[in-house]
Amino acid sequence: MAVLKQGSKGKDVERLQADLNKANAKPKLAVDGIFGPLTEAAVRDFQKRHPPLKVDGLAGPNTLAALKAALSGPAKPAKMDYTRKTKRMDFELTGANQKIWVRQYWHYIFKTKGAVKKWTSKEQKDFHKETEKIIRKAWGGKFVLAVSGTSDFAKYFKDKTFTVFFDVDPRKKGKHWTVFALKIPKGGSNTSKVNWSKQEITLDTEDLQPEDKGAGGGVKMDVAAHEFGHAIGQPDEYKASNAFHAHKKSIMNLGNQVKKRHAKHLVDELNKMIPDTTFSVKSVK
Ligand SMILES: [Zn+2]
Repeated sequence: MAVLKQGSKGKDVERLQADLNKANAKPKLAVDGIFGPLTEAAVRDFQKRHPPLKVDGLAGPNTLAALKAALSGPAKPAKMDYTRKTKRMDFELTGANQKIWVRQYWHYIFKTKGAVKKWTSKEQKDFHKETEKIIRKAWGGKFVLAVSGTSDFAKYFKDKTFTVFFDVDPRKKGKHWTVFALKIPKGGSNTSKVNWSKQEITLDTEDLQPEDKGAGGGVKMDVAAHEFGHAIGQPDEYKASNAFHAHKKSIMNLGNQVKKRHAKHLVDELNKMIPDTTFSVKSVK
């Protein structure tokens, strides 16, 4: 095909004008099949935006090929789904719905402390259900991740995002965590904690009630959600030595707010999952 340039006319020019419009020509061109100064300006602008094209205002083979490539977008990567298993959690990414699931298998050991009756099996089931509900409400769907890198996967998802969700399953086989669940008297207290190196979590029945820890403004903390923060790799922030010591309303401090920094461990692990692909937290919902 001949090089299209100022003065060219016809169907090929019409197609060029329509394609330039799809490739964000500003102002939009009239699709009239007449290559005038506005069409030339749009060609130049497109060439400028797509190095290493020569900026000459002529629509030759290189410019037309680049235009075609720009409109078809990056090719869908051959592999759209990934998983990564670690000692403390598994990661499951599905490209089709742009979701990342973080799964933990918890092996519960139910105990009592103080003047309470033995756990019934319904109470045990309810304890898990309630705990998972609190975790999902606090953390699920909050982290929105952007993707960058040189892989086909990264190029395809360059302008898209992934949302992180959480799943906790009671399961002994392949357990990530041993969870000591203490039934304690109503209004009683016990120290809930997470031992990262031993992969142990201690929770109690009073952790299911939101509690005012002193964050201010009536903000209450869900202890189970705070402890889960430790189980996804986050340190306490209320300690004077922590850089975010003053952010009282943070969930890893005394409050309930999830911050970008709280995805650090997750992102570090995800960044080992797909070669030449880097995740970063774009926003927190
Ligand atoms: Zn803590």
